[in-house]
Amino acid sequence: MICREEVKEVGEDLILKLYGCHNSNSLDVSRYAMYLKAVARMSLKSKSIMASLPPTSAAAKQHTFGTYYQVRKWLVYKDINPMEWGWSITNDTNYPIHSTKPLAPEKVIKLVSCNCKVLCKNNCSCLKASLDCTAMCGVCRGCCANVAIVHEGDPDENMMDVQETGLNN
Ligand SMILES: [Zn+2]
Ligand SMILES: [Zn+2]
Repeated sequence: MICREEVKEVGEDLILKLYGCHNSNSLDVSRYAMYLKAVARMSLKSKSIMASLPPTSAAAKQHTFGTYYQVRKWLVYKDINPMEWGWSITNDTNYPIHSTKPLAPEKVIKLVSCNCKVLCKNNCSCLKASLDCTAMCGVCRGCCANVAIVHEGDPDENMMDVQETGLNN
């Protein structure tokens, strides 16, 4: 079976190409470079630019793992453990782990909020920026489906617990 590191690298490489980053092998580096470029072009009336940025390496990895897991399931491989490929299980239900690291520095996360009237779905500004809803969101107050689960047992990441980090700041 292909190893997790190979799947991660192939996924990151593909996403870099989709975003036109041909001279980089790191989504984190490209994301930061694109952020700086976009900020330089921003006016005071500009909306959030976060939605146009590529995902972080940690988020891309989880997405790639989830895709790999799904394809293997379709191919009727029973030997694949969802817990090793981007999922967590709580009360017999599988939940995707969106990222194993915070998607942006705490200060940036605090700048993004939404005002969704019904559900935090396609038009949610937090979701578009690949960020979790928080208590700053006008209606949902961070109690909605757009709250990622951070997997605390990932063996190949230096883990950070988003919620604890938030409480300590
Ligand atoms: Zn929302
Ligand atoms: Zn929300």
